[in-house]
Amino acid sequence: MPGGLNEQPLECPSLETIYPDVKQDQDEPFSFWVKSSDGRNEYKVQLHLYNFNGWCGCQNYEFACWPELSRGAKPEAKLKCKHIKRARDYYLDKILREAQTQLQRQK
Ligand SMILES: [Zn+2]
Repeated sequence: MPGGLNEQPLECPSLETIYPDVKQDQDEPFSFWVKSSDGRNEYKVQLHLYNFNGWCGCQNYEFACWPELSRGAKPEAKLKCKHIKRARDYYLDKILREAQTQLQRQK
C-alpha cells in the first residue's frame, strides 16, 4: 500500500548519507555540528534555545537573527539560519523514523 505506514523503507538511506554535513552532539541531545556550505567551517547549533527557534554559532545568525531573539521575538523562519534549518531537517527525519518504528512495534 503506497504511502501507508506499513511501507517500510528497507533501503531507506541512512541519515549520515542524506546529511553528511550534520552531526548530532554525543552528549547534548539537542545540539548539532553543521558544516558550512564550503565545508571550511563547522558551527554548533542548539535547537532548544530561544523557545525552540534555535541558536547557531555562525556570523549570519549573530547579526541577522540573534538580536531579535534576544529581545524576545517569537520563533519564525527568518530567525533561523541555514545551519539551524539543516539540523532541524535532520532531527525531524530522525524522529519520523523512530515514530514509525514505534508504531510498527505496537501492531
Ligand atoms: Zn548558522
